[in-house]
Amino acid sequence: MSVRGNRHGGSADRAGVGRPQGQLAPYTGAPSTGGAPAAKAVPRYRLHGALEMFAAGDGDVYLLRGGSGPEHIINSPGPADRALLRELATNGLEIRPGSDAGRRVGPLIQAGAVVREPDIAALAPADAARFIRQLPYFEDFGDPVAAQRRLRVSSVAVLGCGGLGTWALAALASAGVGRFVLIDDDIVELSNLNRQVLYGVNDLGSPKVTCVARWLAGFDPSITVDAQRRCVRGPHDLAALGDCDALLLCADWPPYELARWVNQASLTLQLPFVMAGQQPPLVKLGPTFKPGAGACFGCHETRLRREFARYDELAHARIAAPPAATTLGPASALIGSVLALEVLHLLLGVWPVATHDRVFLLDIRTLELRSEAVAHEPECATCGTRGADAADG
Ligand SMILES: [Zn+2]
Repeated sequence: MSVRGNRHGGSADRAGVGRPQGQLAPYTGAPSTGGAPAAKAVPRYRLHGALEMFAAGDGDVYLLRGGSGPEHIINSPGPADRALLRELATNGLEIRPGSDAGRRVGPLIQAGAVVREPDIAALAPADAARFIRQLPYFEDFGDPVAAQRRLRVSSVAVLGCGGLGTWALAALASAGVGRFVLIDDDIVELSNLNRQVLYGVNDLGSPKVTCVARWLAGFDPSITVDAQRRCVRGPHDLAALGDCDALLLCADWPPYELARWVNQASLTLQLPFVMAGQQPPLVKLGPTFKPGAGACFGCHETRLRREFARYDELAHARIAAPPAATTLGPASALIGSVLALEVLHLLLGVWPVATHDRVFLLDIRTLELRSEAVAHEPECATCGTRGADAADG
């Protein structure tokens, strides 16, 4: 098969790989193991996990992405190419370099539509079975097995095991993150159970970090947990998180100050962090701050001060008498899951993540979504000149 072209010229066995007129975004994925040195074994290939083959009645074969829009169209493939496509979409296929099949499939490999089969044997057998359904998603980011292994050796700090924290933890544990540092001082109360998904009535009165650690151990014994029942009273209380890859800020007390402390620790430790919150019907997703790559929380506050002259006065009032926050389980689930997605992408090296230097505000009634950028502020008292302008870092 050849891109936009044809090995044979005639329509009977012509298999041009093209795109439908002008409606498709260009495909940007990369073959999964394209850079790997040639192994002795004949390499196996298959259709990219995110693509679905659809042989249409008009004789063309569509490679669909996301269930609808065509990603590639193979015009009127002949029987040999059809057979190849079928194998690639089902069992996968050994393809020797320089072979006839290699020449036919080459353009699809180059386009990222056909990828090397991942070396599942490089995963522990239990991990291979547990994560087999998500590996195709990782194909967009490189070798999916390497991505899965990377998650296993990743370490995520979760500050606050409440509504957002428990949903995010469940999602990240499901995805295969190998280590968590949990920081929370609270015990489980009945009023937590409208949103804090990892607890039940049997946990009432128990420390949350203990309950989360127990849940994680039951869910996946290969996960390592460092459960720290304690309060955070300043950036120094986060100084030991230097071995973590990311931090999830899922606590909101004390208001403003906690985010400032996390921000300071983030800059000191070069530790990216994600924050979020809710005030139903609005939920706030992001921003993600990555030291050396744009804004910090101090920059965010600098802008808010500029836009609202009484920002600091309001902050002081809220610190003195924190308002009772409204929470809702489904909103916590949504936010926690988005936080987990952002961290997942961050751990996999997908950059920028959607919430990098950006806040998304979602109305949970209308599902109307808007977003606001958070820019580095040169006059930011916290990151000063350190932030921005290494913005590609
Ligand atoms: Zn800053």
